[in-house]
Amino acid sequence: MLRYDYVRPASVEEACAFLLKTPGRSCPIAGCTDFLVQVREKSARWKDLQYVVDLSALPELSGIRVEDGIVHVGAMTTHSAAEHSPVLAEHAPLLAAACASVGSPQIRNRGTIGGAVANASPASDPMPVLIALEANALVQGPNGQRTIPMSDMIVKPGKTALAPDEIILGFSFPSVAHMRTVFLKLGRRKALSISRMNVSLVVHQDAEGVIDHVALAPGCVFAAPDRARKAEALLLGRRPDAALIDDAAKAVADEMIERTGVRWSTEYKQPVITALVRRALENGTEVAE
Ligand SMILES: Cc1cc2nc3c(=O)[nH]c(=O)nc-3n(C[C@H](O)[C@H](O)[C@H](O)COP(=O)(O)OP(=O)(O)OC[C@H]3O[C@@H](n4cnc5c(N)ncnc54)[C@H](O)[C@@H]3O)c2cc1C
Repeated sequence: MLRYDYVRPASVEEACAFLLKTPGRSCPIAGCTDFLVQVREKSARWKDLQYVVDLSALPELSGIRVEDGIVHVGAMTTHSAAEHSPVLAEHAPLLAAACASVGSPQIRNRGTIGGAVANASPASDPMPVLIALEANALVQGPNGQRTIPMSDMIVKPGKTALAPDEIILGFSFPSVAHMRTVFLKLGRRKALSISRMNVSLVVHQDAEGVIDHVALAPGCVFAAPDRARKAEALLLGRRPDAALIDDAAKAVADEMIERTGVRWSTEYKQPVITALVRRALENGTEVAE
């Protein structure tokens, strides 16, 4: 059985200093919904674990607020808190929707957005949303703070751009209250389902109906969560109609094959991601007749 000691630092500095002096032997923990599953499965990731460093007492990691049009979401924000946040309902409803779709009420009450990002699962629901929102993560290590754009956060499945002695304090992004947003998720079944695929969309059309901002991030499609730049380029500067939406949806599937190659799952994923993106664009845009 894996045995480890429990540490509850009183400050972010103390947490980072402890991680620094116990390299490879300590792990920050938040809601533990991913961590405990990995421990039970005897994941090689934790074979040298001696200490868990509980982040829950650190006030810097909590809260959701908006200041000067920038939304700040603490890393310890649970999926439930995000789901019910009036700030997110107004300023980033797709993040609230993604968090509302995570697991079960028990998982949403424990699991945090910071943990979802740091776990670097390709099937994470909040991750593509943060990319579509053009969010930055604020992280702190023993040498101070830095920001990491969410588009650079996942290096590969299970691996983030964080150093082992860095922790995520939170995320910030411009409010999208004036834009239309969509989050769609396809799971294997309705209850407690990890995403098979999902789509996050932030879009704005000018007074003439021309798309002047679009961020489209499909989840579980590329090796690491990312924006579908080819589809975005097709949409930008155009007034959407059924043909354009169809082309953009196919462009996402084409980019998936270009970037990941043809795999055993492509026969399923290609038509399904095309349909999901088409539905997101139909829901998220005013379509010209
Ligand atoms: C039954 C079940 C169903 C699920 N369904 C879904 C689903 O539908 N959609 C979905 O997206 N996810 C789902 N998940 C995954 C999970 O709930 C999320 O990934 C969760 O958000 C992880 O957060 P946590 O606080 O529990 O992280 P923890 O388990 O505490 O930590 C996970 C990892 O993140 C690191 N970490 C945590 N916080 C920080 C921080 N602030 N800074 C640096 N590192 C940190 C830890 O060291 C660890 O490596 C499910 C999980 C289970 C068990």
